[in-house]
Amino acid sequence: MIRYSCDMCKRELDTGDLRYVVKMGMYAAFDPTDDDEDDDDRDHLQEIQDILERIEDLEDDRIGEDVYKQLRFDLCPECRRKFLQNPLGREVAKAFSFSEN
Ligand SMILES: [Zn+2]
Repeated sequence: MIRYSCDMCKRELDTGDLRYVVKMGMYAAFDPTDDDEDDDDRDHLQEIQDILERIEDLEDDRIGEDVYKQLRFDLCPECRRKFLQNPLGREVAKAFSFSEN
């Protein structure tokens, strides 16, 4: 039987427990250059579209993690709540005093 544990607090989750799956995909964004500004938006989107199509084709083996990375986490309900409050793991206290050092 597959046992799950919360990826944040490491608590073991029983099969009856509510479990949340977080899936994140991160891919490199290609910023348009200053040349040919008029066409850049469309090319930019097309480029991402091409990459995503290639990812689907290749099942991620040949695409480097610096281009595309998919993450998956199991969370207990408590950690789900914490995650939603602070998805990037920023330290909340520092957010209000980032100019001090
Ligand atoms: Zn947890």
